[in-house]
Amino acid sequence: MMDSFIRVGSLVIMIGLVWALYAGIVGEETASSPTPEAPTEETPPEETPPEETPGEQADEDLAEPDFAFRPTGELQAGSGTGQTDGTVWAPAMRFPLESAPAYLNSQVYGVGGSQGPSGNGQCDTRNYAYPWRDNFCETRSHNTLMCPAAVGHQGQDIRPATCKKAVHWAVAAEDGRITNIGTYTVFLTADSGRLFRYLHLDMGRLNVIVGQEVKRGDRIGLVSNDFGSTVTTIHLHFEIKEAIDTGEGQVFTFVSPYTSLVEAYERLRAGNP
Ligand SMILES: [Zn+2]
Repeated sequence: MMDSFIRVGSLVIMIGLVWALYAGIVGEETASSPTPEAPTEETPPEETPPEETPGEQADEDLAEPDFAFRPTGELQAGSGTGQTDGTVWAPAMRFPLESAPAYLNSQVYGVGGSQGPSGNGQCDTRNYAYPWRDNFCETRSHNTLMCPAAVGHQGQDIRPATCKKAVHWAVAAEDGRITNIGTYTVFLTADSGRLFRYLHLDMGRLNVIVGQEVKRGDRIGLVSNDFGSTVTTIHLHFEIKEAIDTGEGQVFTFVSPYTSLVEAYERLRAGNP
């Protein structure tokens, strides 16, 4: 009788020991879990802007895995408030670069930009990948009536196929006439009444002169980094100005090129520019 009491007693002690061991392990895991979160508190968020996930949207769009774009007005985090309206202001325009691929994204907040991660500079492969990113209304001090802040980036930045200047042609978006050429800007006044402005072409090797008539798709100049007395990144800054009825009369102002560019690019890729 006494013997079996001892056996039961031993069993209780053994179960107790196993339980204590298990609780100890679980307790250790629980106690150690907050540790991995600690380092983020030491890094100010502005020094580590959220990195793009190339192809993230492409994976969702199985029908067209190699072209993807983020929604209109979805600017890079921390770069201002976009224009989400989505109106296609120039519904029949030609994509302003002669050939695909091209990459729409921020020159300032993207990799290698003054407000972006340094990476491998402007030629970083992340800048030459889908999905596209709208940057109309990105933080600037320029008056831009259509932006939520009434100031902002007045056009869309477009990188050509490769990070090489003076090899990729910019072309006329619509039929019209070259009405002005500044130190780094070419003005195309279209027969539709719209004004298209092309910035940062190789200004020493333009294919047009002031007063010249151009047809949709005609070569205007080579995408470069000219910026007057200084240089910018290799890209085309592309603008559309349009007569808008504000309800208090018409104003001729900058409108978002993004949705028109998406549609024009889809036509270009389909072989029907
Ligand atoms: Zn720009």
